[in-house]
Amino acid sequence: MEKGLAVSPGIAIGVAYCILEIFVNPDRKRLEEHEVNKELARYEQARERTAVDLAALQAKVEEQIGKNEAAIFAVHQTILRDPAFTNKVRHWIVEERVTAAGALHRLLEEYTSIFSKTGDEYLQERLNDIRDVVVRLSAYLSDVLNDKEESGLSGPLIVIADELLPSQAVALGEADVHGIVTQAGSQTSHAALIARSRGIPAVSGVSGLLSKVKTGDTVVVNGSEGIVSINPESEELAAYRKLEREFFDLKDQLAANRDQPAVTRDGTELKLLANINNAKDVESAVAMGAQGVGLYRTEYLYLTHENVPDENEQFAVYREILQKSPRHYVTIRTLDIGGDKTVAYLGHNHNEANPFMGWRSIRLSFEHPEFFMSQIRAIMRCAAELKSGEPGEVNMLFPMITNVEEMRKARHLVRKAEKSLDERGIPRGEVKVGMMLEVPAAAVAIHHLLELVDFVSIGSNDLVQYLTAADRDNPKVSGLCQPLSPAVVITLKHVIEACNQANIPVTLCGEMAGQPRAFLLLLGMGLRSFSMSPAFIPTIKELANQATVEHAERVVEKVMEMKTTNQVKRYLRMELEAISPDIARLDTE
Ligand code: PEP
Ligand code: MG
Repeated sequence: MEKGLAVSPGIAIGVAYCILEIFVNPDRKRLEEHEVNKELARYEQARERTAVDLAALQAKVEEQIGKNEAAIFAVHQTILRDPAFTNKVRHWIVEERVTAAGALHRLLEEYTSIFSKTGDEYLQERLNDIRDVVVRLSAYLSDVLNDKEESGLSGPLIVIADELLPSQAVALGEADVHGIVTQAGSQTSHAALIARSRGIPAVSGVSGLLSKVKTGDTVVVNGSEGIVSINPESEELAAYRKLEREFFDLKDQLAANRDQPAVTRDGTELKLLANINNAKDVESAVAMGAQGVGLYRTEYLYLTHENVPDENEQFAVYREILQKSPRHYVTIRTLDIGGDKTVAYLGHNHNEANPFMGWRSIRLSFEHPEFFMSQIRAIMRCAAELKSGEPGEVNMLFPMITNVEEMRKARHLVRKAEKSLDERGIPRGEVKVGMMLEVPAAAVAIHHLLELVDFVSIGSNDLVQYLTAADRDNPKVSGLCQPLSPAVVITLKHVIEACNQANIPVTLCGEMAGQPRAFLLLLGMGLRSFSMSPAFIPTIKELANQATVEHAERVVEKVMEMKTTNQVKRYLRMELEAISPDIARLDTE
């Protein structure tokens, strides 16, 4: 039995599918003689596909961003064509019968040891470039969908990886994945977000797992308690099968409330919205009874695109999402790249000493104005698709706003985009402009910012990590990065009350919106709009139906007196159990 962080609730039983992460877990398989040619062909195919990608990326980035930004992809193509690079890989496949992935890992180790001796910064950067090329190549070599067919695996899969790349995480939506386990990661890493948006049980932060499990093993994922069991005895397995069935039944039962109104027992109406990462997620939002999309994380469009989506392409995707969304209600967040999500063409090939506190999100967008403007225009054009007289709303959400100057600058760009569309006679619609409240400085000075925005969306995932100075993706400090810690509670209350007093609509779109205990607290603080992974909506709606604002307000009063996170958690668990033991079971630790 392995212990990790419970990041997406539920029980799943399936066949392990290990994604070999080339840097942490080299493929040590030895090839049989008859497999050598096939492996060479696989490597060549991966090289060809990578070369096509890089050339397309270079052209598109050059056209849309600039020659300087595109130059990096020319360097990557040179590395890919370098005979020394490829001859070594081929040689090891043929002579030493290692797999292509194994050979790439060895190559990287070789370069790392040569370059690290020099201490030369320029060479260190080239090492990063080689690493990028290797990552691209290995992504083609370990495509989870293709491999599944080739490996003959069948049945529900439990994907096991060190950490999923965003593109892999999105691709999982197409496969028969019932559970996800990662060695790294946290409540808010890609794997966790995707798992929750699809309702897939998941556990993160299980260190050393890939050395204990192999593809084909039977694995149980208990995403409610953060436990993973490998090849369990038949009795344990039978017990888990029972729990799995119960969990499905409970979820089905809850999802049946999709057409019920989201209203508390004492009659307060709520808005329960969905967080989505792509157009496919809108289907889950509809199926779970969301009243709209409260957060569309557009960066996934960039992270999973083979090159750079231009304005028209963005417009087409936004329009599709708007058309499919419940009540045609969509909040589109502008690019939030950086931190744990990077794209090379937006300058993330340099090393950031503190990625989450450095050049990320809107800070980065401001420095690529043309690129940023294309996104702002695409969102406005999408709003023109709303039919007059029909319900619908397009909201534009700027991430990681720190101060008044930034919000003014964002507003200025919005006006500029309006003007440029009007001058060219391109239709645009009315868009509300809002900020994500994620930076403590903005929380403290919220009153000043409220004069500049039409709405606020609290990004508690980031707000909590910045308030506690504890990396949201580092399992070692997850004990500190706690949404139910007293300092966070005080800050959230301050922000929600400030918004309500100023009559500025406020939503919370971080992961805590979908956590039953946190929901109770937020309801008592006066929050009425919640955006969460679609899979949580039925549970939260059921809880809302059983809770009263009056009780939630009393709960907040008590919590405000508490001094430790554990006290808050224990007390909220008790209150939740009193409302509904079933819902308490669905809460993660
Ligand atoms: C947040 O920070 O709470 C949020 C919703 O944004 P993301 O998780 O994409 O950083
Ligand atoms: Mg955020």
